[in-house]
Amino acid sequence: MDPSCSQAPTPPVKLPSYKLTSRLTHPADSLIPLGAYAIGGPEFIIMAGPCSVEADPQMLGTAWDVKLAGAHIIRGGAFKPRSSPYSFQGLAEEGLKKLANARELTGLGIVTEVMDSSDVELVASYADILQVGARNAQNYSLLKRLGRINKPVLLKRGLMNTIEEFLNSAEYILAGGNSQVILCERGIRTFEPSTRNTLDLSAILTIKEKSHLPIIVDPSHATGKAHYVAPMSRAALAAGADGLMIEVHCDPTKALCDGDESLTSEQFKELMQNLQELAPHFGRRISTIAPTTALVAESL
Ligand code: PEP
Ligand code: MN
Repeated sequence: MDPSCSQAPTPPVKLPSYKLTSRLTHPADSLIPLGAYAIGGPEFIIMAGPCSVEADPQMLGTAWDVKLAGAHIIRGGAFKPRSSPYSFQGLAEEGLKKLANARELTGLGIVTEVMDSSDVELVASYADILQVGARNAQNYSLLKRLGRINKPVLLKRGLMNTIEEFLNSAEYILAGGNSQVILCERGIRTFEPSTRNTLDLSAILTIKEKSHLPIIVDPSHATGKAHYVAPMSRAALAAGADGLMIEVHCDPTKALCDGDESLTSEQFKELMQNLQELAPHFGRRISTIAPTTALVAESL
C-alpha cells in the first residue's frame, strides 16, 4: 500500500440536511414502543380499518373483525382530507370518541389523521398515533407542532415527494423534540394512470439505508384497488417494511370513502393468515391472538 495514502486524514462525514433523521447520527434502528410491541422491531405491525370513522355498528364491527384477524392498531379518519369540499369530511370529535370506544372494547391502539395544527391537542387526547396525510406531508407548521407532542406520529409520503423531501419532513418533527416518527410509503403520483398512485417499494430500501426510522407501507391508497392489496402487502413484507396500513370495511360497498380499495373483513382475515405464515421467512413475526368471543358478543 502507498504509505502516503494510508496516512491521509479521513475526510469529515458530510451530514445530509435531515440530520437527526439520518442513520449517520443514529446508526441503530429506532423502535417506537406501542403497548406490548415496538414498531421497527421483529413484530410486523398491522394497522387496519375503514378509510373514515363511520357510525356503529360498522365501526365497531370492523374493529372487532380486524382485531380477531390479528391487527395491532385500528385506523380510521375522523378528519378527512377530501378532494371535493362537498364530500364527506369525517365525524370530527364524534369520530374520535368512536375510535376510543373501539379501543376500550378491543384493546387495539388508535391511529388517526390530524389535518390542522389547531386540532393537534384534541386528536392527541384520543389517539395513540397521530397520522399526517400525504396532502399535509409538507405542512411545516403542522409538522413543527407535532414536534412538540409526546406521542408517535405516522408521517405519510407526500404525493410528489422525493425521499429527501420526505426525510426532511420527518426532520421537522424530530428537530422539535419528538423522535417517535413512523414513515409510511403510500405511493407517489406518476404518469401511470392504471393504479391510483405508483407504489415505490424500493423507497423502503433507500429509507432503511438513509434513516433509522421505521417505515410501513399503505398498499390501499397506493393502488386504489382492493384486489391489488394482498400481493403488494406480501411484496412490502419481503422488501423489509416494518408493517402495513390497510383499509378494511365490514361492507366496502357501503363505505363512505374509498370502498374500492377496501378489503372485506374476510379478505383481510385471509391476508393476515397468509402474512403470519410468510413473516418468519423474512425475519418477522405477527403474533396471533386468542379470539375473545365472549367480549365480542357483549359489545355488539
Ligand atoms: C388515509 O390514510 O386516510 C389517507 C387519506 O391517506 P393518504 O394521506 O395517504 O392519501
Ligand atoms: Mn382512504
